[in-house]
Amino acid sequence: IEAMSVSLDAAGNEVTRYEQSLKECAAQLSTDIEADELRGLVDGLITSTQQMNAGNAALQHHLEESRREADALREELAKVRVEAHSDPLTGLANRKGFEERLRALELSEDYGEHAHCLLIGDIDKFKNINDTYGHLFGDKILKIVAKAFSNLTKGKDMAARFGGEEFIILLPETPIRGALAVAESIRRSIEKGRVFNPKTGEEVQRVTISLGVTEIVHGETIEQAIARADEALYRAKEGGRNRVECLMPTPPLRATA
Ligand code: GH3
Ligand code: MG
Ligand code: MG
Repeated sequence: IEAMSVSLDAAGNEVTRYEQSLKECAAQLSTDIEADELRGLVDGLITSTQQMNAGNAALQHHLEESRREADALREELAKVRVEAHSDPLTGLANRKGFEERLRALELSEDYGEHAHCLLIGDIDKFKNINDTYGHLFGDKILKIVAKAFSNLTKGKDMAARFGGEEFIILLPETPIRGALAVAESIRRSIEKGRVFNPKTGEEVQRVTISLGVTEIVHGETIEQAIARADEALYRAKEGGRNRVECLMPTPPLRATA
């Protein structure tokens, strides 16, 4: 902007000078003028016009440069925005990206017309995997589990890494039956995966995941819906892990006369 403002000032001065030389010419033309003098005046005008043109060309060049710079900045901003909303390890959305999407859903016009569900999954005994095979190997497992989540979410659904070894899916316009089916597919797909220790070639203990599912109540806060899905997840852990539990919101009490 500073460079542009300098160029604009310079171009402005050029225009003022040009206007001045036109006025001077006009004054001289109003008097009797010899052919030689007239030629001198026209030469002077040509020089001023060339200077004006040079000034305009410089301004145009600066404008073009500024436009390119603004485009590059806009692109970089979009990239940084995507990065701020995604998890670098798994490539899924992160918690911030997820919550933004949830808020956008809440603000959508037909939000109240459909059922929307939440699903939270947490890898079982993940600490054991880290402790036995190391943190880097644990990271590999996280990537594989993330892939199962992204493979099984389609269309408007959104999967995210919610924290350490916890994943979450928002299922807009999905009744609880559909959400339970997605959770069960994820559970099965992770359970049937076979993981090998790259050093020994031996098969690693089966990786499993527990999942909690709930329906979002219109008007409740995001935190309330997430807490209920979390409670369902807790029940799945208590119930023996590698399972799906569902916790429906309590229906509001009907007022009686
Ligand atoms: P549970 O079945 O009850 O969920 O048991 P758990 O061992 O999975 O649960 P716990 O909360 O005790 O352990 C979670 C572990 O996840 C501990 C932590 O080191 C690990 N973890 C969290 N984030 C990462 C990560 O980014 N990479 C790796 N490798 N491990 C992680
Ligand atoms: Mg956990
Ligand atoms: Mg866990």
